[in-house]
Amino acid sequence: MLQQRYETVQAALAAASEGRYAPPRIIAVTKTHPVEELLPLEGLGLREIGENRVQEIVEKWPDLQEKFRFHCIGRLQTNKVKYIMDKVCLIQSLDRMNLAMEINRQAEKAGVVMPVLVQVSPAGEEQKGGMPPEMVRGFLQEIRQMPGLRVRGLMAVMPHTQDQQYLDGLFAGMRQLFEELRAEAIPGVEMQELSMGMSGDYLLAARHGATMVRLGSALLGPRDYGMVNK
Ligand SMILES: *Cc1c(COP(=O)(O)O)cnc(C)c1O
Repeated sequence: MLQQRYETVQAALAAASEGRYAPPRIIAVTKTHPVEELLPLEGLGLREIGENRVQEIVEKWPDLQEKFRFHCIGRLQTNKVKYIMDKVCLIQSLDRMNLAMEINRQAEKAGVVMPVLVQVSPAGEEQKGGMPPEMVRGFLQEIRQMPGLRVRGLMAVMPHTQDQQYLDGLFAGMRQLFEELRAEAIPGVEMQELSMGMSGDYLLAARHGATMVRLGSALLGPRDYGMVNK
């Protein structure tokens, strides 16, 4: 089942991005799925996993850390940053100044540099995390000299909607912002990664040049919602 879903997704990603962009790589979103279910991901060559809760990262890390690299993809409270500094290879959900300051502080304390993506909300849904696109430039200028973090690109969560045309425009807008910022070559800021697309919209994301898609249910099947609210 897992293998079949994986092959379906791979083929679809390759088809969607054909010609224009390299197909995005898949970040397996493993939230709510127990460790035993995740071990087979390794056999498929999937070595990067995304979790959105600090507690789940901390709980799963001992069993999975030798096989997988963890990404933090969910809204991150500043008082929890310290628990994941040694466990994640990328924080995708940097969306505000006090969080940047805390990541920088904890990284300096640990003597590391934490790679981050700046989270954007293209539809202006700030309650879901992410800053409006027009704020990204100013934010990058403010954080680019922080020695404890390294901006590697942008991340976006799209709104829940069936309106494909609207979504298409949002994905195109993200790619455009990404390319503009890359062309500006802001000192201290890398624009290598564009993380966008989830199970419901990853084809559009691939078509618009995502470099990573974050896939939960399309890969691992439906989530157990009982666990989400635990
Ligand atoms: C849960 C989650 C995903 C994956 O969701 P699916 O729809 O199951 O693919 C991707 N990104 C973020 C930020 C998430 O919280």
